[in-house]
Amino acid sequence: MNYFIDVILPIPIQKQFTYKITEAEAEFLKPGIRVAVEFGKSKIYTALVYKIHTEPPVGYEAKEIFQILDETPVVNDIQLKHWEWISSYYMCSLGEVFRAALPSAFLLESETVIQQMIGFNDESILNDDEFLIYEALQHQTQLSVNQVVEILGKKTVFPVIKDLIEKNVINVKEQIYEQYKPKLIKYVRLNAVWNEKEKLSELLETLSRAQKQRDVILTYFQLQTTKKPIKVIDLQEKSNSSNAVIKSLVDKDILEYYFIQTDRINFDGNSKEIKILTSHQEEAFLAIEKCFKTKQVTLLKGITSSGKTEIYAKLIKQQLEQGNQVLYLLPEIALTTQLIERLQIYFGEYLSVFHSKYSMNERVEVWNNVLENKQKAQLVLGARSSLFLPFSNLGLIIVDEEHEPSFKQYDPAPRYHARDAAIILASNHNAKALLGSATPSIETFYNAQQGKYGYVALNRRYGNVLLPEIELVDVKEKHRKKRMKGHFSDRLLEMISAALKEKEQVILFQNRRGFAPVVECETCGVSPQCPQCDVSLTFHSYRKELRCHYCGYRQAMLHNCGACGSEKLNTKGFGTEQIELELQELFPNVNIGRMDLDTTRGKYGYQKILGQFQAQEIDILVGTQMLSKGLDFANVSLVGIMNADNMLNFPDFRAHERSYQLMVQVSGRAGRDQKRGKVAIQTYNPYHQILQQVSTNSYDEMFKEQLQERWQYHYPPFYRIIKITLRHKNFNSVEDGANWLGKSLTINLKEQVLGPTTPAISKIRNYYIRQIIVKIPPKQSITASKNKIIRIKNAFQAVKEFRSIKLTIDVDNY
Ligand code: ADP
Ligand code: ZN
Ligand code: ZN
Repeated sequence: MNYFIDVILPIPIQKQFTYKITEAEAEFLKPGIRVAVEFGKSKIYTALVYKIHTEPPVGYEAKEIFQILDETPVVNDIQLKHWEWISSYYMCSLGEVFRAALPSAFLLESETVIQQMIGFNDESILNDDEFLIYEALQHQTQLSVNQVVEILGKKTVFPVIKDLIEKNVINVKEQIYEQYKPKLIKYVRLNAVWNEKEKLSELLETLSRAQKQRDVILTYFQLQTTKKPIKVIDLQEKSNSSNAVIKSLVDKDILEYYFIQTDRINFDGNSKEIKILTSHQEEAFLAIEKCFKTKQVTLLKGITSSGKTEIYAKLIKQQLEQGNQVLYLLPEIALTTQLIERLQIYFGEYLSVFHSKYSMNERVEVWNNVLENKQKAQLVLGARSSLFLPFSNLGLIIVDEEHEPSFKQYDPAPRYHARDAAIILASNHNAKALLGSATPSIETFYNAQQGKYGYVALNRRYGNVLLPEIELVDVKEKHRKKRMKGHFSDRLLEMISAALKEKEQVILFQNRRGFAPVVECETCGVSPQCPQCDVSLTFHSYRKELRCHYCGYRQAMLHNCGACGSEKLNTKGFGTEQIELELQELFPNVNIGRMDLDTTRGKYGYQKILGQFQAQEIDILVGTQMLSKGLDFANVSLVGIMNADNMLNFPDFRAHERSYQLMVQVSGRAGRDQKRGKVAIQTYNPYHQILQQVSTNSYDEMFKEQLQERWQYHYPPFYRIIKITLRHKNFNSVEDGANWLGKSLTINLKEQVLGPTTPAISKIRNYYIRQIIVKIPPKQSITASKNKIIRIKNAFQAVKEFRSIKLTIDVDNY
């Protein structure tokens, strides 16, 4: 008998490939085990066993596998089932889901590049093969898997690489994630020769003529009594000495430096009981439990600061006590240290955190802990990709801030929405899903209204703190009366001064999207454009640079207009940076901080700025939407929204919903303690219905109005949208392809098809772009429409001229 396996390869082709295996391998292999296989022109891939059978493939000769990579499955059946749903719903290949789901260290292939980890030096733990690789990395900074194959003279190299990763000798270089830089803290300890008690007096004797050094050593011994590692900085401060003095002791071999990596979440073992719920919270908690009796999904709509997190904590505790796993999903920007620490206090020994800023090794560690259903990973707090972890026993998924746009993955495929995929995942586990938000998405609230989801509301802030008082400031009027200083109205300045006088802190919010500081020639009106994309470059005053926000292109700021040569270049519009500059002039003695994508790069970016703000080293914090989430600052009494109009005018059917959500969330940062907070919203249009609804906290009214518009203009939740995008470097090719595809779709799907159209930004990275939208009416079968689209897509890709066109399909592209 011949045996075969079908495997999932991490490629965008929707097809399983068959390989030949021996009888012994057939006995051993199971779905979910990884194997190394050859595919294409002698390329090695990591593939996942999907099925074991005895049917030879039709049309090609099955190759043998190189090697089995796991002893037991790394992916379980529930996951495979979930991947199938994602692949079919979001119209992508299983391979694309496979690639998105596994940490890249699990997905080695010929082109994978490995590099040395800093700090490894214990060669004695390496075997011969491992040593060869290690040595090669001493001579060149990185190696591809192909090079490893050459060095070891065999194709079965993945296990060697895997062991090297596990021994922290190497890691896999990742393109998508920023390079991992472990955060090292410098510690100091006594050289071992001086460690015995008797030696102390001898030591002090030798230092009798170096008083300062002697003081340092005495302080060292004091600090040592606490039995904690001693930071250089602490020793320096406590002994009132300098770095130079400590260094001279190190030079004398009395002290030595060492480093501890501090970025893993280290739980110190001091857990606390969860908080006792207030009567309103308890009521909400019981209502959620009741909903879960009949509904798989429940929406908790609780205003900002109502204590949703405390309710989650109680639900989590219940699940952990029953031995179930819990997944707590958050948008990336809400995953702050503040929240992590809060949960750590309650669930330290159960909690693992998983998100893209973590190093690959840490992600592998969490994966393995979840796979083995370890206590340490019974509760996972993570961003959208944590949905792919190998849970076997989920009891509850919490999707906090469920309305957040960043739950949707736009690129690359799978283009999934983490909230929706989480609901499916929960159902596969027979678990419950709780969606939480102060400002639910229209879709979710609609589902709750229709009775599809259970619904629980919590309308009281903890401690009965009042919601902030919201004031709309009419900047059109202020301009007319000449009461603007730069982008600040006299009213906002007055409120800022009042807050500062009371030693309270201020947050100023400037929406990032659609309102970057564009340079414009005052003579001819031309703005410098990105040479690769159809957008204006934005001005970054800090580096005096022009940058493209789409492709990262940068150049030095121009002195003359490229079109007419005029020297009058004006930086129109304003971003966070501009506001920061204006503030520095208006309040020269005040500490101003800025939080946006530029200032928060790196794993500790946020943490540093937030830490300073919390410690009140910063009085006014200027920032983008990053400020709206998961932060709790007791001393903030004023929030200013610099410009509401650019949010409201954004060309998207959700612009109004999003503006409402963002403004309410940002406002929620004001007055979280006893005193009632204030919010000032600057706008040209104070009578805009959304601003009125924000200022009166009228979610229901907003919902009703938006839902009406969605119905009228054929948008979700009534109509479903699939967006098809075509890209090509050649203008005519993309044009021809889009027309062909548009016509074929229209023949099959009639009036459901809109386009092809040219999007607002018609060229990115030198690729011309065309779009086709398919709107599926209510009661029409979504599956039927999708099947038609797939058939037409296959026909399209069979046409030779169209093969080089990049085509992507985005289901629920909003
Ligand atoms: P939300 O998530 O709804 O915005 P939080 O859970 O962050 O609200 O609660 C706001 C603040 O009130 C937090 O500092 C929290 O610790 C505190 N808090 C909420 N409920 C309680 C409670 N029952 N006992 C003590 N403190 C509470
Ligand atoms: Zn000009
Ligand atoms: Zn560009």
